[in-house]
Amino acid sequence: MKAIRTFTVRTVLPDELAPLGRLAGNLRWAWHAATRDVFAAIDPGIWDTVGHDPSRMLGEVTSERFAELTADPGFRARLDRAAADLDEYLTAPRWYQRFPDDTREGAPPDPALPSAVAYFSAEYGLTAALPQYSGGLGILAGDHLKSASDLGVPLIGVGLLYRHGYFSQTLSPEGWQLEHYPEIDPRGLPMTQLRDSAEAPVRIALALPGGASLTAHVWVVQVGRVPLLLLDACHQENPPELRGVTDRLYGGGSEHRLRQELLLGVGGVRAVRAYCELTGHPEPEVFHMNEGHAGFLGLERIREYTKRGLEFGQALEATRAGTVFTTHTPVPAGIDRFPRELVERHFARDPVIAGLPGDRVLALGSEDYPGGDPSVFNMAVMGMRLAQRVNGVSGLHGAVSRGMFQGLWPGFDTSAVPITSVTNGVHARTWVAEEAQDLAQRIVPDSAEFSRPEGWQKVTGASDSELWQMRRTLRERLVADARARLRESWRQRGASEAETGWTEDVLDPDVLTVGFARRVPSYKRLTLMLRDRARLKAMLTDPDRPLQIVIAGKAHPADEGGKRLIQEIVRFADDPEVRHRIVFLPDYDMALARSLVQGCDVWLNNPLRPLEACGTSGMKSALNGGLNLSIRDGWWAEWFDGSNGWAVPTAEGVTDTDRRDELEAAALYDLFEEQVIPLFYDQDDSGLPKRWLEMVKHTLVSLGPKVLATRMVRDYVTGLYHHAAQSSRMLASDGMAGARALAAWKQRVRAAWPGVRVQHVEVGGVDVVPQVGSELEVRATVALGNLDPEDVRVQATIGRVSPSEELLDPVLVDLSAIGRTGDGTLVRYSGSVPLERAGSCGYTVRALPTHALLSSPTEMGLIALPAPPGGMGDGVVLR
Ligand SMILES: *Cc1c(COP(=O)(O)O)cnc(C)c1O
Repeated sequence: MKAIRTFTVRTVLPDELAPLGRLAGNLRWAWHAATRDVFAAIDPGIWDTVGHDPSRMLGEVTSERFAELTADPGFRARLDRAAADLDEYLTAPRWYQRFPDDTREGAPPDPALPSAVAYFSAEYGLTAALPQYSGGLGILAGDHLKSASDLGVPLIGVGLLYRHGYFSQTLSPEGWQLEHYPEIDPRGLPMTQLRDSAEAPVRIALALPGGASLTAHVWVVQVGRVPLLLLDACHQENPPELRGVTDRLYGGGSEHRLRQELLLGVGGVRAVRAYCELTGHPEPEVFHMNEGHAGFLGLERIREYTKRGLEFGQALEATRAGTVFTTHTPVPAGIDRFPRELVERHFARDPVIAGLPGDRVLALGSEDYPGGDPSVFNMAVMGMRLAQRVNGVSGLHGAVSRGMFQGLWPGFDTSAVPITSVTNGVHARTWVAEEAQDLAQRIVPDSAEFSRPEGWQKVTGASDSELWQMRRTLRERLVADARARLRESWRQRGASEAETGWTEDVLDPDVLTVGFARRVPSYKRLTLMLRDRARLKAMLTDPDRPLQIVIAGKAHPADEGGKRLIQEIVRFADDPEVRHRIVFLPDYDMALARSLVQGCDVWLNNPLRPLEACGTSGMKSALNGGLNLSIRDGWWAEWFDGSNGWAVPTAEGVTDTDRRDELEAAALYDLFEEQVIPLFYDQDDSGLPKRWLEMVKHTLVSLGPKVLATRMVRDYVTGLYHHAAQSSRMLASDGMAGARALAAWKQRVRAAWPGVRVQHVEVGGVDVVPQVGSELEVRATVALGNLDPEDVRVQATIGRVSPSEELLDPVLVDLSAIGRTGDGTLVRYSGSVPLERAGSCGYTVRALPTHALLSSPTEMGLIALPAPPGGMGDGVVLR
């Protein structure tokens, strides 16, 4: 069998049915039910066997069937409607085209917005038919592309095409995870090869140390309005040892990973250039690095600028201005780091990017701050140095990231570290069940209303019975899906047909159903629920009010610990006493995720706070009328409001991890026993759990508007892309004069900064205890070294003092230069600070560099504070 090579023959469609090719060729079908229905109508049986994948579908239909369809006016009309709908979707003005005013119809987009944005990610989860993702990061990237398309944001996605994807998972008879690497054939997938005007495949070349050259072909996946470019090294022009560069997602050793990331970043920029030139797509003004894997894109852009005559430092400024970096993990082990020596080898002789000074490249990823490791090259650190704008993915994660990367901005309070946050969201049409979408449409016919909270308010108009009916339908479908998957899993584990009979009635469509599905890194604590097995078993087997649990998740192939956790769960679920109430379903992917988030009543998440950067699966559940029960981490720390689900109290701060697990597991069981189970089974005479449904409605009203990925993409556009485009233009104007000026200014300020000192600070009017509402007069004298007053901003800052001697929620007030001291060496500043809060306060004065082209006053990481003991002003008490 191994010797057989597969290939795909493209279908030739009759002219009348040509729109089928267009519909299959644009991934919009993945979130457009009416398009999928057209394919299902061709042959429902085949549709199921091809896993609802239109491209594969077209390969399976016989020419006789096509002939019948050609002669079927009903089908033709339906097909034409779907095609017209796609055309309208692809061409009509959308939110971006109307921005900033919702009512601007057909006007050209606001010229302040970027002409285009290039979005780079190592993985994309767009549909189960395109297995190019491992978990949340990829799903988020897929949802970002789809929502950008829905909003009309001119985005170009960039990634790699992995021949074996991540991996598919089965279980051994002992419950051990087994990995499989089926090979995909791009010609059978919804993508086309990027070809030049002579119809030859576009080739992207990348130099490797030792004189080798890696060549990539480019595949284009059309995601609605958004093209996604995937670079592919697996073809005959590469020597065999290089074809494997794009073999697997997150597989192989450091060198393999480094090559992948060089191809993604450096090759990706070159692919974008080729694509724009061939298609006329506007060139991106903003480049978004979705996590550190994409960081090398900044180096290629620096090279482009140096080719246009800029020096490295100037090119760095020009690149930074148009770059956004998103960090996705607060887990130090999750940060992408390479041996420094390995990166050095790629940028020394025969460098990957000719003309870049190796030492400058190495400095970008160096952990040259206290506590840093000098032997590594850190991709997140490089991302932050290559991007003028940086964000985390939830409010809490932003705060944690500010602490984690504070070393890059020495001297600043954690709160002043310039890392913001945009909380993740999910793409509703991908994740919400059709039944739920239909119900929503009956109640709120104009789907545009769901972009505003008032639209979601109307959801309360659904009757309890129709809502409960919808929930039961989804639960029932999950149960059927779980039974089929479980049977299949037992067959793979070696059970005979006769031995799998019991799987036909596992789970119950009327029992409270809890879902837990995600990757299996240790911080997500897959097995926390097993902490007290007897207590869990009692809930599962309760004769009157039982609980049932559906679990899924993949461990990274190299993570033996994660595989042990899976085995523990599987073994527990194998027990004949509980196996009808708890199941582990192998091969967690987008199809299984949809089934789970739609069918479960409660979505459980118990990470070790604060290690979950955001989490998105709970958002998908909420949109389907599920209720979240979670540790207050990631998004849940932000949006749990006391009545839209349940928060598991965290024992954060208890350093003994075993003890902490004990406490949090106990709290989890308490919640189920005392609140969740009684609420679900408190059903009235007609079988309706009124109070449960009230909570479901409140969940939809309170979370609906927030968890949408369209909200997220709008936040990126208005909060980050927009500003990045502005900065980028300011630096590019006048033949890059802005970039030259900013680089020169930064150099001058860095050199002069040691001479900047806050010499003396005094306040007026605190000899008596001041009152709230009065003002504190602050005066300072500051040595500016060789700098001019325009280069320096002097601020008074006042706030409550934290135990770690930071000012909490400080009020900042700029002080004005009021003259020089007698000998002219010092500048005197003064200003008054409003006293807004009673209690004990601290204040200080700080000096920072200032320039119109900085994104924030803390950008350069330079600050001057008064020397201690006056470092933090002596306590002022307000009454
Ligand atoms: C949504 C999703 C995730 C992310 O889930 P988290 O709760 O954020 O970990 C991972 N994998 C798949 C297949 C998903 O659909």
